[in-house]
Amino acid sequence: MRGDANGILSAAMPLSIPVVWSDECLLHEPGGEVWIGLPIPGDEVPERALRIREELTAAGAPLHPVEPHDDGALLDVHDPSLVDFLRTAWERWDHEGYPVEHGQTRVVAYITPHPGLAGDVEPLIPASPAALTGLFCFDTMTPVGPGTWSAARAAVDCALTACDLVLGGAPLAYACTRPPGHHVTRTAYGGSCYLNNAAVAAQHLRRRGAGRVAVVDVDAHHGNGAQSIFRDRDDVLTASVHVDPEAGWFPHFLGTARESHGTNLNLPVPPRTGDASWVAAVAHLADATRSFGADAVVLALGVDAAAADPESPLDVTPAGFREAGRLVGGLGLPTVVVQEGGYDLASIGGLVRAALEGVEEGSGG
Ligand SMILES: [Zn+2]
Repeated sequence: MRGDANGILSAAMPLSIPVVWSDECLLHEPGGEVWIGLPIPGDEVPERALRIREELTAAGAPLHPVEPHDDGALLDVHDPSLVDFLRTAWERWDHEGYPVEHGQTRVVAYITPHPGLAGDVEPLIPASPAALTGLFCFDTMTPVGPGTWSAARAAVDCALTACDLVLGGAPLAYACTRPPGHHVTRTAYGGSCYLNNAAVAAQHLRRRGAGRVAVVDVDAHHGNGAQSIFRDRDDVLTASVHVDPEAGWFPHFLGTARESHGTNLNLPVPPRTGDASWVAAVAHLADATRSFGADAVVLALGVDAAAADPESPLDVTPAGFREAGRLVGGLGLPTVVVQEGGYDLASIGGLVRAALEGVEEGSGG
């Protein structure tokens, strides 16, 4: 018996969802960020993943080792130039002497080919590695260090391994993906994200037989990456609830309800939104997934909508995440959960646990 009406008894039930894990996801050390021109410590740190693993395994969830996958689905959703850049960015930077000569130990951009700069001229491929970075990175908060590629690629493998578990008959699987991925488009990275794990998962599910896939994104910030990648596709629904970018929040330039169309649904919510309205929005995403006729779901599970999170102004509680999980699990579809944001180390594990317990309860697991 799982899932009493109040969710109280079920809180003590062990989790059974497999947790796909790779130690390599810990290798990415951003070494801080630059925000409004100022160096700040940054909070997308390896400890996030360790806290989640600790909480989930304590709750009984079995760890499942990551398995390597080829680049097929990855190159379906990302331009090869982006993948090649990220694969070689640190080596190029190091080889060109930036760490030794300038003391800059992370790959960062200093100029970008803004449309207003290039106009109708096709921008050059810059010879300078710092300038080249600006061709691919859209913000100042997403540095590349020596372990970044290994971690980002391992996160993709975690997402793909979770897909394989579901394709093999498991009802649910969770990929402890770090760094997160949902801000990455086909050609550009940013927002502390490098490769779009959730989009790769959706594409892999499509390649392996799911006719229609929904990417349901409950991270506090707009899932702009999947929206962009799948915008012209009618076989992948992208649906996101997030803090309203027009109220001053990342990714600032997009994420409005006006961008919604047949296979894209944006539900921006105002700052200070709490459980009632946020869960209602998640219910709307679940309804859209049902109407779309999805055969499988990728849940992009950021938990930074939580009240204590430093990266968003939303006020969702663990009970809200649990209910959101129930709604997605209640779709009764094969579901791959991919970790996105969540930056309060004290609460991140419990929030992910609450969401996954909800997914299990909703699915009748
Ligand atoms: Zn976020």
